[in-house]
Amino acid sequence: MEHAKPPLTLYLAAPRGFCAGVDRAIKIVEMALRKWGAPVYVRHEIVHNKFVVDSLRDQGAIFVEELDDCPTDRPVIFSAHGVPKAVPAEAERREMVYVDATCPLVSKVHIEAERHHANGLQMVMIGHVGHPEVIGTMGQLPEGEVILVETVEDVATIAPRDPDALAFITQTTLSVDDTAEIVEALKVRFPAIVGPGKEDICYATTNRQAAVKAVAPHIDALLVIGAPNSSNSKRLVEVGSASGCAYSQLVMRAADIDWRALDGIRSVGVTAGASAPEVLVNEVVDAFRDRYEVVVELVETAQERVEFKVPRVLREAV
Ligand code: SF4
Repeated sequence: MEHAKPPLTLYLAAPRGFCAGVDRAIKIVEMALRKWGAPVYVRHEIVHNKFVVDSLRDQGAIFVEELDDCPTDRPVIFSAHGVPKAVPAEAERREMVYVDATCPLVSKVHIEAERHHANGLQMVMIGHVGHPEVIGTMGQLPEGEVILVETVEDVATIAPRDPDALAFITQTTLSVDDTAEIVEALKVRFPAIVGPGKEDICYATTNRQAAVKAVAPHIDALLVIGAPNSSNSKRLVEVGSASGCAYSQLVMRAADIDWRALDGIRSVGVTAGASAPEVLVNEVVDAFRDRYEVVVELVETAQERVEFKVPRVLREAV
């Protein structure tokens, strides 16, 4: 005789998953493949998600880490995270065809940095060391013009050229709350520091974190679908824990779920980072349906209508 499944309320956070920048970057690779045929080279994972990268690889994209790994007679696409200025400059020097899939909200930060630099200000960037977006943004200005801080503690130790001639910028995918604390520390130590109205954290990061905060009080466990190298996905896990959900876990897909750790739960929250496709969310929901009598509750804290156009060179061609 089949055992009755235990009941479970599954709170589905919204917004979740793909943002406009990721959607655009994926479209750019797909349209480039249609325009130029395979292979098309992509410098770095176009977005931080293995499922997305594998499916583009199946269509003929070749992922490399450096421009040197690309032949000069095939097009190359730069990932959504942005690249240092030296990268397109080198592509031009080598007379390569390239398409820049940098998210427009990352490009906005690049422009901000350049504007401040032109006004004689040194930059403090709040971000994670080694993340491609940080490397790309720091690489918009000459070496030494951007000082990176990761924590409130870092703010106490930096030694800018002139404490009265500073501006700050931020990575787009940070924790809203942690960043507010770092900005506050910067303003206390450097009262003349100039910055954006709030920070540069993008709408998608902000909205996904707000949805997790709304879900967290209702749930025994939170699963964030995303990749271990996805900054915004990792921040969602942290926001879940900080908002009171002690079991907050990152999973790449249903196969990663630790069912033993979930033993006895009555409710679960599910969300997805900005680079995780909805098909993986459906897979996770189905995996819960296999084991539980699931009631799905949608917790929607915002609606998103942001869309970014792909570059003209591709729009004209396909
Ligand atoms: S997370 Fe934000 S900055 Fe990053 S690609 Fe998406 S919209 Fe752009």
